[in-house]
Amino acid sequence: MWLSLGIVFSLGMLIPGKLSLKLQYDRDQVLHIVPETFQQVQHLQLLHSTLLLDLWKPLMPEDITAGEDLHIRVPAPLVQEVKDSLDQHMISYRVLIPDVQELADLSMPRERSSHKQVREGYVYTQYHPMEEIYEWMTQIQENYSELVTQNFLGMTFENRPMYYLQISQPSNKPKKIIWMDCGIHAREWISPAFCQWFVKEILQNYKSDPKIRRFLQHLDLYVLPVLNIDGYIYSWKTDRLWRKNRSPYMNGTCYGTDLNRNFNSSWGSIGVSFDCSSNVFCGSEPESEPETRAVAEFIRRKKSDIACFLTIHSYGQLILSPYGSTTKPPSNNEELMQVGKKAAAALTGKYGTSYKVGPPSLILYNNSGSSRDWAHMIGIPLSYTFELRDNGTYGFLLPADQIQPTCEETMLAVTTIMDYVYQEYLPGGAVVLTCSSLALSLCLSIVLTWTVY
Ligand code: ZN
Repeated sequence: MWLSLGIVFSLGMLIPGKLSLKLQYDRDQVLHIVPETFQQVQHLQLLHSTLLLDLWKPLMPEDITAGEDLHIRVPAPLVQEVKDSLDQHMISYRVLIPDVQELADLSMPRERSSHKQVREGYVYTQYHPMEEIYEWMTQIQENYSELVTQNFLGMTFENRPMYYLQISQPSNKPKKIIWMDCGIHAREWISPAFCQWFVKEILQNYKSDPKIRRFLQHLDLYVLPVLNIDGYIYSWKTDRLWRKNRSPYMNGTCYGTDLNRNFNSSWGSIGVSFDCSSNVFCGSEPESEPETRAVAEFIRRKKSDIACFLTIHSYGQLILSPYGSTTKPPSNNEELMQVGKKAAAALTGKYGTSYKVGPPSLILYNNSGSSRDWAHMIGIPLSYTFELRDNGTYGFLLPADQIQPTCEETMLAVTTIMDYVYQEYLPGGAVVLTCSSLALSLCLSIVLTWTVY
């Protein structure tokens, strides 16, 4: 015990926090490289494997490709060595993030002023630790009890309850469900921030905004603000760059499964690792993790009512459609592309943020076992992964001052998709209903006109 603590301290990477030791990334740098030749790709792969560098984009060394962006975090003690080696091999690079820790500190408000929250209400333009998100959920369902219920979904590996918020207006009309989950990857903090923003926007505006009011007559919104709660907490308390959940493998020699590689869709086939220390470890079998199982069981139960499955990530500015591996395209590929592009166009219209739309195999890299692929595979027609801001400038450490613009633009994309569901997916069709009410008012007006004369 003391020995291992000693080693940890001598590495100079951990400092004591309030309750736990916190990994520090002082003067670690993130480099941007676009390898030009296959030789350069090979050298970068060699550097990655010998120095154990941390790939941000792509996530796996075999996906490093000539002509494509590479983002890599280099620990401070290795920065000079790596740069020298790149120079020697005539590989040009640019420093994206000169000090990872400095940026990490920025996204974590120094003083969590609960006074401020009490005075001004919940602050949506900051990142929130899990306890505050739990409290927020309780508040939301109390303040909007006519519309919102907080429902239990399951327990995490570390025994924390998972809740989703159900936003639905009591009605006996036929309805469809839109599912949205956030925070499946712990370090992608902008994602839970968006789920909260989304709920806020719907609730604050449904009375005044006729469009949202119309949506809610036919659409139930199910929002899971943080899927990977254990990982999210770990990213606040111990390691800001943690991605996976926190279940132990190999007698606790390594931790965490990539929950977005753990679903039962071509599980374990590509873009994954079976090494539990890898960031893309896919688990011991499909749905081996309690978090994945909780979501999958619920979705299976509701699948015939779910028209649209959205899962929110960062970063890369992408709307990803199924499938992650180069199997055959989904039967409704054209629809998926058309709707995705319309959503991206709406998003870009706000602040000019550019987005790509398409399957991962074409615009990112192959992967398997994602929830998006699985949801589509079991019959949910519209299924997308959103990779929110940015394009690598700040990567996983998106500063809090970008929460608002990111959420505003993303809101437009999501409502575009909701609009499409509303138009095209209602049983019997909202259109039919409007027609009948139109016919009714027509009849009435004829009768009225007639009686007047
Ligand atoms: Zn992710």
